[in-house]
Formats: sequence, structure tokens, C-alpha cells
Amino acid sequence: MINIKSTDNCTSCGIGLVEPGYSIFDCPNCGEAVIGRCKQCREHSTDYVCPKCGFKGP
Ligand SMILES: [Zn+2]
Ligand SMILES: [Zn+2]
Repeated sequence: MINIKSTDNCTSCGIGLVEPGYSIFDCPNCGEAVIGRCKQCREHSTDYVCPKCGFKGP
């Protein structure tokens, strides 16, 4: 089974990650889910919630 770690949408607000300035990183808690954050959510430090473990972080 191939598990590609990527996401196309911001985990916080759900918009597509098309603008430059977004970031994609593994969940710092479980390391299994991929968190996507758009530029806007990064600038506003919007909370995200890991879809796998429920970890909430800035
Ligand atoms: Zn966002
Ligand atoms: Zn997690």
C-alpha cells in the first residue's frame, strides 16, 4: 500500500493550497497525518486540528 504524504487543502480553513506561502508538514504529535496550512492561516496563527489524533496546535 502506497501512502503518499501530501495534501491539497488547508487543514484549518479548507481552501486549496495554490497560493505561494503555504506549508505542509507532518502532525507534530502523531506524525502520521499531514497538516496543510494556507498563507492566511499561517499569518493569523489559526488553529489546526489533526484529522488522525485530534492534536490541536498553532
Ligand atoms: Zn487556511
Ligand atoms: Zn496527529
